[in-house]
Amino acid sequence: MTQPIDIPVSKIEILKSELPKNCWTQDIDIIAPHLTEWRDKYFGKTPLMLTPRCTQDVSDAVKLCAEHRISIMPQGGNTGLVGGNTPMGEVLITLKHMTRIREINTTANSLIVEAGAVLQNVLDAADAENRKFPMTLSSQGSCTVGGVLSTNAGGNHVLKYGTTKELVFGVEAVLPNGDIFNGLTNLRKDNTGYDLNRLFLGAEGTLGIITAASLKLFPKPKYVQRALIGLDSVEAAISLLEDFRAGGRLAMFEVMPAIGYHAVIDGFDSIRDPFDTSYAWYLLCDWEVESEAEGMTLAENILGKAFEAKKVLDAVIAQNETQAADILSIREHMSAGQKFLGGSVKHDITVPIDKIPEFFRLADAKMQEVVPGCRPVGFGHFGDGNIHYNIAQPEGADKKEFLANWDALSQPIFDICDALGGSISAEHGIGTMKFDDLAQRASPTKYALLKAIKRAIDPERIMNPRVMV
Ligand SMILES: Cc1cc2nc3c(=O)[nH]c(=O)nc-3n(C[C@H](O)[C@H](O)[C@H](O)COP(=O)(O)OP(=O)(O)OC[C@H]3O[C@@H](n4cnc5c(N)ncnc54)[C@H](O)[C@@H]3O)c2cc1C
Repeated sequence: MTQPIDIPVSKIEILKSELPKNCWTQDIDIIAPHLTEWRDKYFGKTPLMLTPRCTQDVSDAVKLCAEHRISIMPQGGNTGLVGGNTPMGEVLITLKHMTRIREINTTANSLIVEAGAVLQNVLDAADAENRKFPMTLSSQGSCTVGGVLSTNAGGNHVLKYGTTKELVFGVEAVLPNGDIFNGLTNLRKDNTGYDLNRLFLGAEGTLGIITAASLKLFPKPKYVQRALIGLDSVEAAISLLEDFRAGGRLAMFEVMPAIGYHAVIDGFDSIRDPFDTSYAWYLLCDWEVESEAEGMTLAENILGKAFEAKKVLDAVIAQNETQAADILSIREHMSAGQKFLGGSVKHDITVPIDKIPEFFRLADAKMQEVVPGCRPVGFGHFGDGNIHYNIAQPEGADKKEFLANWDALSQPIFDICDALGGSISAEHGIGTMKFDDLAQRASPTKYALLKAIKRAIDPERIMNPRVMV
């Protein structure tokens, strides 16, 4: 992996003297929250934080950095999970002052917003126009549009609407030389060469800084029917997927194991278990329908058949919005709840959906060989083949000692993914965490193409030089 970056003080002084005073800070108290991330896995440093107010400010700052070969790391809400948002000596540029919604067009179903806007504010703005922006994730109250686009985030609705790449018309981005690329559009058809907008989606800030985006809006579903289901196995969950799709109305299919589910219920006073009995696995799903009555009938029919086929053990069909929010809250706290289990080695992998049971068989066995007594907590967006396969420390183990096994636990997981035709990163990206893994596991042709694109757009490696490629 690339080493921490050391920028000479003289270069930082140039930035400070050339840029407006409200566009940078060295105030330790302001910068500190930008140097750690929520799991306390990475601790960073930066000589300067840039705080632009508009796209031109970003462009001016990047031009100067390019001229003096100063490395930059863009940051949004700092909720990324692969180290790509924690600077190790780069100048940090935060988009947190660029939050304006520039335009909502309900005819074209588009919304143009600045990249620092928090995702929740975009969801609310779309909702106010009776539209849906179908990107929901547990971090939506903190993550930003720029971060979501740059990581090609997934979330809970990929099953129906696709990942972020499917939800964007175009972007405005400042290139590594400071030029502004304006791809803001709401055209659904534009066949004029390579899709340059898409280059920035999932680029993790390595090709430029996204300053604004034109997002796709969808009709707001009239009613969302939610259900929580108790199951005895992963196989049972996967066997339900086909029937549950219900003519394209299935919008969420999230699975949680008992260990993670009960860590949330036991750990957070505000969260209640709607079941009296414990089950080995839990499935949470949403159907988007035309009315409350349709939702209830659909859920009762689908679950009735599943009960008859002995595929489900128990189910709660949400009767109102409060109950729906309560059961969603269990899933939303799955990541945070794992803190109650001690140290945890995290994975965000994907395999073909039909291979999920095989993945668990192989991975659970392998993990016990590597660290006997460790506790796999595999949960997530199983409807997309995406498993957050986290490994909690053995009960009573020393956290630090356990976390020293990170690589020893991860490499066999990645081997299993490769063997099953999966991917070592489903939705969180490569960052610094999987920099070496991508280099070693991508095909030589793919890796050479990634490097060629990086070289073409950022020949001096100004943008996020320690990230991805
Ligand atoms: C509790 C929790 C739940 C999560 N659930 C999910 C989930 O379900 N699905 C999912 O996909 N992710 C999930 N994540 C990961 C994370 O929230 C997303 O990756 C999110 O999209 C990151 O947005 P951010 O604004 O916080 O970006 P940051 O963390 O600030 O940055 C992430 C990356 O994007 C780059 N970047 C940020 N802004 C820009 C910009 N304007 N231009 C160019 N590059 C930029 C950064 O340099 C970095 O490489 C979760 C995280 C947490 C903490």
